[in-house]
Amino acid sequence: MIILGTASDIKLLTKDGRRLDGRTNEELRPIKIETGVLNRADGSAYIEWGGNKILVAVYGPREAYPKHTQNINKAIVKARYNMAAFSVDERKRPGPDRRSIEISKVISEALDQAIMVEQFPRTQIDVFIEVLQADAGTRIAGLTAATVAVASAGIPMKDFVVGCTAGKVEGKVVLDLSKEEDNFGQADLPMAVLSKSGKVVLLQMDGDLSVEEFDQATEMILTATKRINEIQREALSTRFVAEIEEGGE
Ligand code: ADP
Repeated sequence: MIILGTASDIKLLTKDGRRLDGRTNEELRPIKIETGVLNRADGSAYIEWGGNKILVAVYGPREAYPKHTQNINKAIVKARYNMAAFSVDERKRPGPDRRSIEISKVISEALDQAIMVEQFPRTQIDVFIEVLQADAGTRIAGLTAATVAVASAGIPMKDFVVGCTAGKVEGKVVLDLSKEEDNFGQADLPMAVLSKSGKVVLLQMDGDLSVEEFDQATEMILTATKRINEIQREALSTRFVAEIEEGGE
């Protein structure tokens, strides 16, 4: 869709308060996760979340290289978030940029909280997140799929990382921003938590929200993560889910 105009004159809600794609304020876009999609990786997952299409490949734990990067106490989680040149409307210049380096860092740190990294000193776990089609919320969709890919590699985990975004459009707090809402809305708040402990492992925001709106947004996200976690669990075999459940006890 081509949208002309500035943020202030873009209508993101219809007269009856619905969003442009017909969703209510608290409705998620459709989410589908598959695992075991790549033969050569130790673990893999593919997620479709709204118009996002993202593939994740996991390798490891394997000896960290170069050697000076090794941590004698734990495995290093190295996520690499990459957007394909064809993933957005205008061709994206291939290769890392400031945005992808930042997203890779926050995803690595979130996954580090969920994986039993202490069990694998001197190793690294590589998590390649390839955005094939971007449609807002890619860091959260990538992280949500990465958790499934890590679990499918048989890497011991304490918990699932599960996330969602919320934001504000035309003064209303809404869940799971679409691309138009992300581009022309008033706030964008991606957040991820550990599903069992509820610990917040990723929280970023741009735009502005009052404290009340912030509380409303995080509350909406927390409710949504329960549903998204069910989709993650369904994607994994019962074997992996049982292992994660035991891991956190
Ligand atoms: P996220 O995808 O996690 O929401 P951003 O808020 O930075 O991250 O980006 C929002 C959306 O803007 C992306 O999902 C994508 O659709 C679009 N986008 C991001 N970077 C680019 C780019 N370099 N070129 C075109 N569109 C982009």
